Amino acid sequence: MDFQGRTSIVTGASQGIGKAIALELSREGVEVILVDIQKGKLEEVADKIRENKGKVAVFAADVSRMEEAMEIVEAVVKSNKKIDHLVNNAGITRDNLLMRMKEEEWDSVLNVNLKGVFNFSKAVIRNMINNRYGRIVNISSIVGLIGNAGQCNYSASKAGVIGFTKSLAREVASRGITVNAVAPGYIATPMTESLPESVQQKFRDWIPVKRFGTPEEITHAVKFLLSDEAAYITGQVINVNGGMFM
Ligand code: NAP
Repeated sequence: MDFQGRTSIVTGASQGIGKAIALELSREGVEVILVDIQKGKLEEVADKIRENKGKVAVFAADVSRMEEAMEIVEAVVKSNKKIDHLVNNAGITRDNLLMRMKEEEWDSVLNVNLKGVFNFSKAVIRNMINNRYGRIVNISSIVGLIGNAGQCNYSASKAGVIGFTKSLAREVASRGITVNAVAPGYIATPMTESLPESVQQKFRDWIPVKRFGTPEEITHAVKFLLSDEAAYITGQVINVNGGMFM
């Protein structure tokens, strides 16, 4: 896989899976455009990339805001001319049983996890169509496929991401652009570290490989889908979940 000269936007790149994706792409020679809601943590990732002589740019933005996505893409296109890859990774949870779920908990999760994917995809798509090349990878979740009590908002957003992925894949397939999703199972990141230890143990018992995945194990799947070698794979959901769902 040769990524030299490519430019990738990675959202939610401050920590967890997004950070691992950004660091790995940078090691492969990609210029990475890091997006996250807080600039401080992003700068630490950018410093790491610069230490290794990688090319990086940093943008603090809320992915749920269309105008912020548009501004970032405009700035990148102005300086770089092209965007080769978009990894829609930013995501949040606001768990509650439906009976107790507040409207704000529903809206915020749908706005970040699903509208954020719409915003950034819409922002980049014209440039990718003009270049007749593009790779979009959306980070969904196992719970978008199998559901999870207490996560009606999150699982709906992640199932929505899969429907979005397949529809956009059909729209742009003839323009050299692929659109795929990766659906992680339980991955050791700040998102899952906040679960009580008893809940984490319950999941470890359930997962056939008996452990949480690492962010790097998601990165490998994302990297493959971003590669030229994956040109004939589009509209797919790649499950990376230690066998939790087969
Ligand atoms: P994480 O550690 O919580 O990282 C997510 C990053 O996204 C954080 O830096 C967060 O910033 C940022 N973010 C949140 N809201 C944002 C917004 N509105 N605009 C821009 N950035 C925002 O999560 P992760 O575990 O790495 O998850 C990454 C993706 O994988 C998410 O889409 C998640 O749903 C998905 N996923 C994770 C797992 C898992 O087990 N970890 C499983 C399946 C799917 P703050 O920290 O400042 O909020």
